[in-house]
Amino acid sequence: MKRIAIFGATGSIGCSTLDLIGRTPDAYSVEVLTGGRNIERLAAQAKHHGAALAVTAHEEALPELRERLAGSRVEAAAGRAALIEAAQRPADWTMSAIVGAAGLAPGLAALAQGNTLALANKESLVTAGPLLMERARQHGARILPVDSEHSAVFQALAGERIEAVERVIITASGGALRDWPQERLAHATPEEAGAHPNWDMGQRITIDSASMFNKALELIETHEFFGIAPEKIETLVHPESMIHAMVGFVDGALMAHVGPADMRHAIGYALHWPERRALPVERLDFAALGGFTFRAPDEDRWPALRLAREVMAAGGLSGAIFNAAKEAALDAFLARRIGFMQMAQIVERVLARMSGDVSLSGDLDLDKVEQADHLARIRAGEEIAALSGRMPE
Ligand code: NDP
Ligand code: MG
Repeated sequence: MKRIAIFGATGSIGCSTLDLIGRTPDAYSVEVLTGGRNIERLAAQAKHHGAALAVTAHEEALPELRERLAGSRVEAAAGRAALIEAAQRPADWTMSAIVGAAGLAPGLAALAQGNTLALANKESLVTAGPLLMERARQHGARILPVDSEHSAVFQALAGERIEAVERVIITASGGALRDWPQERLAHATPEEAGAHPNWDMGQRITIDSASMFNKALELIETHEFFGIAPEKIETLVHPESMIHAMVGFVDGALMAHVGPADMRHAIGYALHWPERRALPVERLDFAALGGFTFRAPDEDRWPALRLAREVMAAGGLSGAIFNAAKEAALDAFLARRIGFMQMAQIVERVLARMSGDVSLSGDLDLDKVEQADHLARIRAGEEIAALSGRMPE
């Protein structure tokens, strides 16, 4: 039996992971499930899958979790320290699917067991890629990508030498506002930006998809995970979301990964790796689809892509700053304090203001990353305060 731990079980990726595991329950033993505010769902999942431990990130939610688990054999815990302890419990396969920088510390703790970390939480590679990869090396742990583009690249690279890679193309649907005239974007609401045409995902990543901050994070993720030079990584707008990534080799061949827009493919691939097993995903009918279209991404429309290039060039803590400023800007957009296009402005200003901060130089470690994250949120707060009240007319 494979021992499973899922961090972020109550989210979109967490639910899809449990959907797959629940189809052959005898093959797995669910050790740990974690969630945030959705205590009702966490308790229901833990009982249904017979988890040994359920953890909420929020200490004040512990009484409710205990109450909902009363009469079951599931142990309850809460808070940041409890999340780390849960990551130290023996598991063969751990899903990292917390959203945001909060996913980093549990992921690092899980890697110390030397087992497999299925990584959906791209923010941990963006904020602390070298740290995460080094931790995995040190403990002989394996990180398997779950982000669909990175799973696609990983699959296209099977049996290939990384030196033979000439370029990597990750595709972007363009998100909910792809076909809006540019001058309207400033007025987009969270509801409009949060209606994804192809993928059914959590609210935050869906809005990041419309602003291309998601693709910006993924450019950095590609660089950190595969060690591919930034100039070899391209983005391509592909509205149908059928090709997830292409890997171009020095002999001119391109391996494209094609599949339905269903995260259960990438999750299932990481769950069964190195084997391929049947998965409950749609089989594509190419004749019915008719064709695939592509267009170059416009960096005026999506400044996040340009900012990602700056972050990759700067390295160090700039990924942590970029991500934290983005998270704060997204919160402000969701709270209707700033407009859609102002998110990138905030991030750009925070990056510029913090670029020469000497207190943030030196070797990358978790403390430094968390310090940079904290400072970037303060700086972003200042920029948001300066901009809010000046929402676009
Ligand atoms: P969701 O918002 O649906 O779920 C996020 C999960 O994290 C929930 O379990 C949530 O708990 C929990 N959580 C939120 N805040 C915290 C916190 N501060 N501490 C601990 N746990 C917290 O996100 P998704 O499932 O969409 O995304 C998860 C990760 O996977 C992200 O990094 C995303 O970028 C990545 N990803 C997602 C894809 C998708 O299709 N959804 C595709 C590719 C990557 P609760 O809901 O109970 O509050
Ligand atoms: Mg993706």
